[in-house]
Amino acid sequence: MSTVLNNSSAISLKHSRPSIRVLAAINELHGQIAGLHEGEVASYIPELGAVDPDLFGICVVTCDGEVFCVGDADHEFTLQSLSNPIMYGLALDQLGRQRIEKAVGVEPTGNPFHAVVLERGTNRPMNPLVNAGAIAIAGLLGGDDPTDRLNRALDAIALYIGERPSVDMGVFISERTTADRNRSIAYLMRNFGRLEGDLDQTLDLYFQMCSVRVNTVQLATMAATLANAGVNPRSGQRAITPVSLRDVLTVMFTCGLYEQSGLWAYRVGVPAKSGVSGGFMAVVPGLLGVGVFSPRLNSGGNSVRGIKVCEGLASLLNLHVFCNTTAP
Ligand code: GLN
Repeated sequence: MSTVLNNSSAISLKHSRPSIRVLAAINELHGQIAGLHEGEVASYIPELGAVDPDLFGICVVTCDGEVFCVGDADHEFTLQSLSNPIMYGLALDQLGRQRIEKAVGVEPTGNPFHAVVLERGTNRPMNPLVNAGAIAIAGLLGGDDPTDRLNRALDAIALYIGERPSVDMGVFISERTTADRNRSIAYLMRNFGRLEGDLDQTLDLYFQMCSVRVNTVQLATMAATLANAGVNPRSGQRAITPVSLRDVLTVMFTCGLYEQSGLWAYRVGVPAKSGVSGGFMAVVPGLLGVGVFSPRLNSGGNSVRGIKVCEGLASLLNLHVFCNTTAP
């Protein structure tokens, strides 16, 4: 299945790039990559292991609000770590950069996403996109009580995707009951005074954000909002301030694929984020957002086909941020 929502099959490109046909590109890539069956579905969260591994959806949303998709783009999955940059942005907007910088670093870890490790010297989590950083951010989010904090977080996601999402209770319970590793990280941070407040409530909010349901079109709309100076190009609503957006995109560029972030920046060269459900988003500032869903993961917990699609798009559409740096 391939679909063009709205009314045009060609997009106007900024940055004086040659005209392109996004729909043709994603159709071609879907056809090429659908035969790739490398990688394993995440099963350490039992509920995630039940998914059909061969589901495959691609969606591109442009900063003009056009939507192009192919494959299983309406299949729902959970955000997992794709919620981390959104919560980081919310915390930045709520508390300001200075406060957040004290609590969470901005360095790539070189370690898997769920490593039980903190930054040498400061004992902060190293960045907000690995589990430790995301749990610390969940502990900082504002609200009167757990329900209010959850509602505010869901409201924030709603601005990016254009509708209020729901939390998948099956995944939430599955995460919560198999969370020894995340609990270890939380206790380690509490030991170093890096996690205040009620540890169980903080972890619940983190698991709830990981369990938010979206489809690939909504994920691409989220990426397009990040690409479009923080304004959802389909609804016109602002989701994040420009000053916080800059920080979010910076850490997505340097840390979005955990210990594979350097290779990603080298090969594809745009801010991106993955989740262990198989969701993957890439942000091309000023131009478009990409969402991919394909649950088979590589050894770093990143969607194999998600990476392949973005490598293909970056090459077909010349998207690497440093690709046009030749002096005139
Ligand atoms: N919920 C997952 C966890 O806590 C998120 C990890 C991910 O998507 N990389 O391990």
